[in-house]
Amino acid sequence: MSEVRLEGIKKYYPYPGGLVRVLEGVDLEVKEGEAVSIMGPSGSGKTTLLHIIGTLLRPTQGRVFVGGKEISSLSDEELALFRAHNIGFVFQFHHLLPEFTVLENVMMPLLIRKERAAEAKARRILEMVGMDHRLAFKPSQLSGGEKQRVALARALVGEPKLLLADEPTGNLDWDSSHKLIELLSRLHAQLGFTLILVTHNRKIAEKWGKIYLLERGNLRCCTN
Ligand code: ADP
Ligand code: MG
Repeated sequence: MSEVRLEGIKKYYPYPGGLVRVLEGVDLEVKEGEAVSIMGPSGSGKTTLLHIIGTLLRPTQGRVFVGGKEISSLSDEELALFRAHNIGFVFQFHHLLPEFTVLENVMMPLLIRKERAAEAKARRILEMVGMDHRLAFKPSQLSGGEKQRVALARALVGEPKLLLADEPTGNLDWDSSHKLIELLSRLHAQLGFTLILVTHNRKIAEKWGKIYLLERGNLRCCTN
């Protein structure tokens, strides 16, 4: 079964006096449990595409299916609920809440979902990312690589079927990048989520199955 299917996705942003034509008819199919990467020049629309897949942004035209469900027809409230239960995000910047501890940050998605056992689940995933020795630390007390590991734990604590990662190593040095990608690879094998990863780094892209290239509004498979 396919976890993600895009059909003829177009995205145009209005701006005074015209339209920014970002996506010009993108089709994509990613199977359940598959890992793919998307590369492309800066400004080619990678983040836009990931946000459309992640239901954060609606396409100008085209249909989006996640987990076999067509999400284009859902209301904003239904989308928020769907997203909270099915999709995890990791970004270039960690977006951890500075006033909360590592443990609290990772519990947050479950508390919002009013789930029981939030703390036990958060502790378990923090152990899996190797951050269980920093539970009471604040984000400012962590290294860049550690913050991204916590951000990854927060994205995965709700056991999403789909993980979307937008240049998660973009702010890290080579060593921390390498460690984060090794960790992501291990978690993908252990937990079986579907992974779509945007990266500028071909070495990282080559770790997974297919490499897609986004250029001039079109997505091409496969460059490896
Ligand atoms: P990438 O992630 O590949 O660098 P983005 O998806 O962030 O690319 O942006 C693609 C293009 O769309 C860029 O030219 C950008 O300026 C434009 N863009 C992104 N968001 C908006 C917006 N809200 N309004 C107008 N233009 C936008
Ligand atoms: Mg981007």
